[in-house]
Amino acid sequence: MLNFDIEREIPVMEHFYTIQGEGYFTGTAAYFIRLAGCDVGCHWCDVKESWTVKQNQLLSYEALINAIQKTPTKLIVITGGEPLMYDINTLVSYLKKFDYQINIETSGSYSLNTKLDWICVSPKKFKNVLPEVLAQADELKCIIYNASDFDFALKNYENYKLLTDKAIKLYLQVEWSVQEKMLPQIIVFVKLHPEWNISLQTHKYLDIP
Ligand code: SF4
Repeated sequence: MLNFDIEREIPVMEHFYTIQGEGYFTGTAAYFIRLAGCDVGCHWCDVKESWTVKQNQLLSYEALINAIQKTPTKLIVITGGEPLMYDINTLVSYLKKFDYQINIETSGSYSLNTKLDWICVSPKKFKNVLPEVLAQADELKCIIYNASDFDFALKNYENYKLLTDKAIKLYLQVEWSVQEKMLPQIIVFVKLHPEWNISLQTHKYLDIP
């Protein structure tokens, strides 16, 4: 693990201004901060290059905000990798000074002690979601790679309901490489379980980051 001062910098794999392609904020312009590092190990992961952390990825919060302020964005999405491997409290307080809406996308496998505007939890079979993070979710986004993932999605929703009666948005998102096989099954499932919605990785169809 890298040695660095979390009060002023954090490992960033990439950061860019684009259109959110997935989930509840699909179609909204957003500045993405993709933190480097993930130990969840999804075998179908489409950003495996985010798993490792390198010294030259350390970016100061000041440099990050300077880049963000060159865009007219109102929304920042912190993603990964697994962004909650780090204590993002200082990063978030820094960004909050500039009045941005701050969303996060996480597997929920590390604790979350920061107030955010929108929490998208995408639980993975490979590392357990922490109940205290699941309970804070505004959006539950489950990736469908094979038929057993439907039960996994239902189970996570059941667990959520045991934790809180807060409203939540539910999404099933096909894993890109199996969409031909799994998308028809997702359509059938959502028609049978209308509380769930389909999330497509529209940025991939649009060929944008
Ligand atoms: Fe990849 Fe996300 Fe799974 Fe980490 S949690 S392995 S970044 S899909």
